Amino acid sequence: MLPKDIWRLSLIAALAVVIGAVGGFPGTALAVAGAIYIAWTHRNLRRLLSWVRDPKNHEPPEHEGIFEELTLEIDYLRERHKKRKKKLQNYLKQFQQATRALPDATVVLDEDGAVQWANDAAGRYLGIRWPDDVNQRITNLVRLPALRDFVLERDETKTIEITSPTDPNRHLSVLLAPYSRNQWLFVARDVTQLHRANQIRSDFVANVSHELRTPITVFRGYLETMERQTEVCPPTWRTPLVHMAEHAERMQLLVEELLLLSRLEQEPEVKDPQPVAVGEMLAEIQKQARRLSGGREHIFTLEAEAALRILGAEQEIYSAFSNLVFNAVHYTPTKGVIKIRWFKDAAGAHFEVQDNGIGIAEEHLDRITERFYRVDVSRARAYGGTGLGLSIVKHVLARHGATLAIKSRLGEGSTFRCDFPPEAIVSPEVVRLSRIS
Ligand code: ADP
Repeated sequence: MLPKDIWRLSLIAALAVVIGAVGGFPGTALAVAGAIYIAWTHRNLRRLLSWVRDPKNHEPPEHEGIFEELTLEIDYLRERHKKRKKKLQNYLKQFQQATRALPDATVVLDEDGAVQWANDAAGRYLGIRWPDDVNQRITNLVRLPALRDFVLERDETKTIEITSPTDPNRHLSVLLAPYSRNQWLFVARDVTQLHRANQIRSDFVANVSHELRTPITVFRGYLETMERQTEVCPPTWRTPLVHMAEHAERMQLLVEELLLLSRLEQEPEVKDPQPVAVGEMLAEIQKQARRLSGGREHIFTLEAEAALRILGAEQEIYSAFSNLVFNAVHYTPTKGVIKIRWFKDAAGAHFEVQDNGIGIAEEHLDRITERFYRVDVSRARAYGGTGLGLSIVKHVLARHGATLAIKSRLGEGSTFRCDFPPEAIVSPEVVRLSRIS
């Protein structure tokens, strides 16, 4: 209470007592005065409340004393709040204008994947209109199986590439980023130029490889004929001829592998997958690996679930698995142990090659599947390696929905494991039949 109010109240009380004393009823007069004062206070409070409750009423009610102070204080706070609100609204408007103008399609999704907000580019690239499509699930608006899996998975470390549903010539790279609580920012960037550049590179490599194929076959043919004609071929030519034949063979292998890689790149999925009897295939690969090992006396073990079959392209799987086994032979010294396994568990089917060879230093592991990436170029060349083997393995696996896991320690050996998803498995029964060594 302000001093003014105390004075006023004291004055009313004194007046009531004096008037009451004159009339002979001071107590009653004081009670009546008190009741009038309470009623007046209540009226003031009601006026104040209805003013506070009405945001459109800018004119504060006229009061005196503490009510006047209270009204002024509330009025001041209301004005300040209004100004801050306006400022925030301006910020929000500017932010929305900026994000609306962003060249990347940006969509805010709630925890169910329903659209909450979208910018103009989302309309152009994905056909999502804001506010028309608010609360519609993005997977219903953009019907692509790859996108549905991606949105369900919500892995912020992943990106996928899709073709724009509004323009088949536009390629988009999509990512999902967590945003505030239970909200996700769906961003689709136009990567058409990059896609085109990759396509040009890939076409160029495929065309050059194709063009080189015939001349190399011709060279090899003549070289073989010349090598055979020992009676007309001067002895000094023999060593150069053998070298030329070796290099021509290497070039041919390189060209074939480059062509295989571009073919794998062109088609992201196996066209007509068939059941592949991996167990039998591994027995054959092991036989070839023994031959490749020659006098180096490697010890092989093969443990395979004979009945475990997967859906895929047999030749490609053969190429991938044999690449890994032959690498183990190339990079494992004499009498080293090479263990091959084919098994399944709840996560799917797995092919594993473990060796106790030279191993790979940690810093190379991330790049080892890149084309032409070799830890030791001269060592790889010495056995005729092209540097494309692991790249082919990676592409083959990707086409089968599988992934490659590599564990290695320098000087201790390496383990290469191909993990196929459960959907790739054909045979449901687990028959652990063969244990060949
Ligand atoms: P390359 O034809 O050179 O063998 P790859 O793509 O098959 O090409 O392998 C790339 C590189 O990975 C090899 O040059 C080698 O350095 C390394 N590498 C692959 N497999 C093994 C292994 N089992 N042990 C050690 N290093 C390996």
